[in-house]
Amino acid sequence: VPDLTYYKGTPVPLITTWSQEVSGAPAVPLGAGARIVLEMNYLENGTATVGRVRYADESIYDRDTHGVLWQRYPVARGRGFPYFARVHPLRQRRCMNRLLCQVCGEPAAADERGTLFMLTFTDAAGVRAGTQDTVLTSNPPVCAPCSELAARRCPHLGRGNAAVYARTVTPWGVYGILAAPEGNYSGQTAAYADQRIHRMIAGQQMVTLSGLTLTAF
Ligand SMILES: [Zn+2]
Repeated sequence: VPDLTYYKGTPVPLITTWSQEVSGAPAVPLGAGARIVLEMNYLENGTATVGRVRYADESIYDRDTHGVLWQRYPVARGRGFPYFARVHPLRQRRCMNRLLCQVCGEPAAADERGTLFMLTFTDAAGVRAGTQDTVLTSNPPVCAPCSELAARRCPHLGRGNAAVYARTVTPWGVYGILAAPEGNYSGQTAAYADQRIHRMIAGQQMVTLSGLTLTAF
């Protein structure tokens, strides 16, 4: 049985953000003291486009191995109360890259079929119908006990959801905030091949799953 963190009797996934991890105002998702600088590219005809986003006081810890800028969140797991709908950027990225269970942090379930992931209703339907053979997701893998726990307790997992073993997990890009001169757009995605990746302030790692084998919980 995995070592789980509870809040008032409810298990809290590892990737969940706690209130003490959010700097005072939730409207400021970039972390305490984060000041965004937009570096402009000036074209020969005089027009300017946003070339790259960076922090005014950026350090080597602010970017991943792909060179993408990440949102700054303090690490204070278990302090305050959990925001179940809010994913902690650092823990999500770690779970995804190391294929750790998003609930307990232990290695995700894996066998000759690959690594175990939970699917949304839409992706599950597409894979089941054979209309899609890959899945793009920001949802890190799970271990077997936690997948059963999640199927019973997670409000996002209703009827028609499924789990899948993925033989190949390929980094695709990020989900997060797109910086622009007129303001920032949250809830955006960008692939590594997309020019917009240089203007993203990442909150979640996204991967493509392929070599899929559907399984029951
Ligand atoms: Zn687990």
